[in-house]
Amino acid sequence: MVSKTRLVDQHVGELLSGLVDGELTQQQRQRVTLHCDQCDECRRSLAELRALRERVGKSNLSETGQDEWRETMHETTVKATRSIGWLLFITGIVAVTGVSLIGFIISSEISVGMKLILVAIYGGLAVLLYSVLRQRLIERKTDKYKDVEI
Ligand SMILES: [Zn+2]
Repeated sequence: MVSKTRLVDQHVGELLSGLVDGELTQQQRQRVTLHCDQCDECRRSLAELRALRERVGKSNLSETGQDEWRETMHETTVKATRSIGWLLFITGIVAVTGVSLIGFIISSEISVGMKLILVAIYGGLAVLLYSVLRQRLIERKTDKYKDVEI
């Protein structure tokens, strides 16, 4: 009982990554394994570390690999921010266009012919916007492919 308490009190946090990387001696490995059998906290940390290592992949274990990983994360953040910017921009345009369009269609001061012309103009704008968006999406896909290639 006393020895069990002592074991649990000495967390093996600093040895967990060593275990995952296979850098521990037989004795250290035994100590970590024994400790994790009794300590939920360290067992959870070990599981998290293993999941993380699996995600990063073996090739990224080196220091340069970790830099690449960080760069990829940074790039993802930049791309996500840009996507949010585009989304807000497009939502704004769609909202303004929609409100104006409804205003014109409801208005009784504008003739049906004029309304049709306005609908054509807005429809044309929508098609243009769609094609630009589509182009951007294709460009982004190509970028992603390039990243994988390098
Ligand atoms: Zn522990």
